[in-house]
Amino acid sequence: MNHFEVRDGALACENVPLAAIAEAVGTPVYVYSTATLERHFTVFRDAMRGIGKGEPLIAYAVKANPNLSVLATLAALGAGADTVSEGEVRRALAAGVPPERIVFSGVGKSDAELAFAIEAGVAEINIESEPEFDRLEQIALAKGARPAVAFRVNPDVAAGGHAKIATGKADNKFGVSMAEAERLYAQASNGAAVRPVGVACHIGSQITALGPLEAAYGKMRGLVERLRAQGLSVETLDLGGGLGVPYFDEPEPPSPAVLGGVIAKALDGLDIRLAFEPGRVITANAGVLVSRVIHVHERPEGQRFLVLDAAMNDLIRPAMYEAYHDIVPVAAPDPDAALLAYDVVGPICETGDTFARGRRLPPLKAGDLVAFMSAGAYGASMSSDYNSRLLVPEVLVRGDRYAVVRPRPTYEAMLAREPLAPWL
Ligand SMILES: *Cc1c(COP(=O)(O)O)cnc(C)c1O
Repeated sequence: MNHFEVRDGALACENVPLAAIAEAVGTPVYVYSTATLERHFTVFRDAMRGIGKGEPLIAYAVKANPNLSVLATLAALGAGADTVSEGEVRRALAAGVPPERIVFSGVGKSDAELAFAIEAGVAEINIESEPEFDRLEQIALAKGARPAVAFRVNPDVAAGGHAKIATGKADNKFGVSMAEAERLYAQASNGAAVRPVGVACHIGSQITALGPLEAAYGKMRGLVERLRAQGLSVETLDLGGGLGVPYFDEPEPPSPAVLGGVIAKALDGLDIRLAFEPGRVITANAGVLVSRVIHVHERPEGQRFLVLDAAMNDLIRPAMYEAYHDIVPVAAPDPDAALLAYDVVGPICETGDTFARGRRLPPLKAGDLVAFMSAGAYGASMSSDYNSRLLVPEVLVRGDRYAVVRPRPTYEAMLAREPLAPWL
């Protein structure tokens, strides 16, 4: 559920009409709902509460939507942060996430990033390979620190909504194998450089079936039991993120409560503290991208193009993952008007700049507003200023107030980023 509803004949975010934001801030613009963010976080937290030992750590995956105001909204509810770069660790800290709730993940952390994470005192550094483990040991020894680490295991399970976001098969670049994890965990426990606290997995994104998750949980449980049987201490099990959201009426993904039930059963009696790294399920349906129709281009051959002022640089998911987003007119359409088929495109000079083909929509004309639904995750965070289009702004709504939480830059600011070479 979300807080984008038709009120007085037009789509609103909580109590603020989207048209009012479009008027004041311009388009395209991302709009996020505080009430939806809060609801999704608390539903997830409550679903996992009581599973395992103590309170689970819900480390929101920053990359889904790293806006500081979004992070601060979640941090105020007790969210931790799952981070994959020094920049994300800095964002989490700046938004008020305490270091003891920050998990540092990622396939290729540089020496500088590892050193930064140690100094920041993050809760755990998730090690994804043996060379990374070796480097971290060297850095930790040189610093005389003993950072908490977990090993990210690749459980060799296929999952996820698209090949580009499946991460849990043996041929993906993520994590160490079960066998490597056992060997490295023992090695780390016998050494003095790091303090191994647990194991982690994250098998993919936009997962809508429980089967692969159950399979991964079973394998992770087996690993914890084998490590403990060797006399090693394993305090935490990080089950990653990946739970899907309903982008349209496909098979509905399981709710966090159903997922919690599956986890409770799979880990029954294991006596371990759990951590989760949900991203999309927290922010996707808490955001929309509002765009204005530039014009409708009808070819004599029959194609009908709806040309918007939003483009693939603002929302890349359709171009990159063939992702589907509902597109909704902001002004409630005449219910009697017949739907028309549109190819919905942006102004960028690439055929890939197509949001949808043959999408059936009420009749639209130049100047009308549309909203891309479920755009709060992997939307603004993947945006760029390709084609020298200004970076899309972001707005956060709370009740009947709103704030611009990332302004649209000016053209002057865009040009000022690039000092000319002195010989020019
Ligand atoms: C991307 C990512 C997540 C979040 O995935 P969602 O599908 O958005 O829940 C969690 N953990 C890691 C390590 C990731 O890379």
